[in-house]
Amino acid sequence: MFPDFDYAARLERARALMTERAIDLLLLSVGADLPYFSGYEAMPLERLTMLVVPRTDQATMVVPRLEAPRVEPRGDAFAIRPWDEAEDPIEIVSSMAGKPSTAAVGEPTWSVFLLGLQEHLHETLFVSATAITRELRMRKEAAEIEWLRAAAEATDRVVARLDRERFTGRTEREISRLVADMTLEEGHDFATFAIVASGPNAASPHHEAADRVIGPGETVVVDFGGRHMGYCSDTTRTFHTGEPVPEVAEAFGVLERSQTAARSAVAPGATAEAVDGAAREVITEAGYGERFVHRTGHGIGLEVHEHPYIVDGNRLALEPGMAFSIEPGIYTPGRWGMRIEDIVVCGSEGVDELNRSPRSLHIVG
Ligand code: ZN
Ligand code: ZN
Repeated sequence: MFPDFDYAARLERARALMTERAIDLLLLSVGADLPYFSGYEAMPLERLTMLVVPRTDQATMVVPRLEAPRVEPRGDAFAIRPWDEAEDPIEIVSSMAGKPSTAAVGEPTWSVFLLGLQEHLHETLFVSATAITRELRMRKEAAEIEWLRAAAEATDRVVARLDRERFTGRTEREISRLVADMTLEEGHDFATFAIVASGPNAASPHHEAADRVIGPGETVVVDFGGRHMGYCSDTTRTFHTGEPVPEVAEAFGVLERSQTAARSAVAPGATAEAVDGAAREVITEAGYGERFVHRTGHGIGLEVHEHPYIVDGNRLALEPGMAFSIEPGIYTPGRWGMRIEDIVVCGSEGVDELNRSPRSLHIVG
C-alpha cells in the first residue's frame, strides 16, 4: 500500500526532464520507479507490467489482466491497458511506443523484456531511466519525509523494547525473529531484514543471523528495518551483554564521535563525500581507519538503498529533502564489531534526525 500522492504532477516533472535530455519515451517496470509514479507495485513475475510514458502523450499502464484489479485507477495520471494471456505484451508496448529515437528504461526491468523491446524497436536508442528517476526520487516531498519519519519512529520504539530483553543465552536467530515481530507490531507492513551479529560475527557488517548463542561480554550489532506505507526504515544499534572491556568502550566512544561528526556535517550545499569524510576522519585519527570498511551511508525512500550514496567520490551537493543513512562502523575480524545507523534528512537549516533512540552502547543482560 502506498500513500495518495499527486502522481500526475510527478509524471509532469518526469516529462520536463525527458524534454531536457531529449528522451522520447520512459518505460518503467518492476522495482520502486513504478510505485513512485503510479502508486502501484508490480509483482516481479514473468508477466510484463510496464508504465509507458511518452513525452507528449498520455501515459498507459500495461498490466496482466489478472493483476489489473490491483491497480487503482488514476485517470489524471495514466490509462490502464490490461493484456490477456494469449496477447504479447511486448508487441502492445512496442506499438504504443511509435518510433522513439531514445527510450529510457528503468534499470530493474528484466532483460528478457528489454531484449524483446529492442527486437521490435531496432532503431531506438535505449538508455537508463535512472538519470530521470533518480533526480526526482532523491528529492523527497514533505509528505514523503513524514512517512519516512513515521517508519523511523516505529523502529525507535523497537529499540526501546529491545533494551528490556535478555540477550545472553539466546540465539541470534531468536533475537532476529523478535526484532522482526516487534517491527510489525509497531506498525510496519513488512519487516524486511533483521541482522543480529554477535561476538566475532559482529565483525561482518551484513552477517546473516544464525544459530550462534549469544554469550556474556559480547557486542551484538542489530541492524533492522522494513516498510511502512511503502517507505523504508533502516537503523542500527549496538548492544553489549554486560559492561564492555576498556578496548570496546574506547572504540565505541570513537564511533559515537564519528557518527555525530557526520550528522553535524549535513547541510545544504555540503557534498555527499564531505559527510563520508567527516565520519571517516574521526575513525582514522583514532587509528581504526582500516576497520571502517564501507561507505558512510545510502539514500532511502521507497527502496532501502537508493540515491544519494554517502561515499568518497560523490561530489553531489546535498539539498533540502534528501534522505539518507549515516552508519559508520568499526570491525575487528574474529573478535567484535560495532555500528550506529540513523536515517537523517537534509533540512534547509541543517540535519533533521529521523531516528532518535539513544546512540550509546546499549547494555543488556
Ligand atoms: Zn542498516
Ligand atoms: Zn543502511
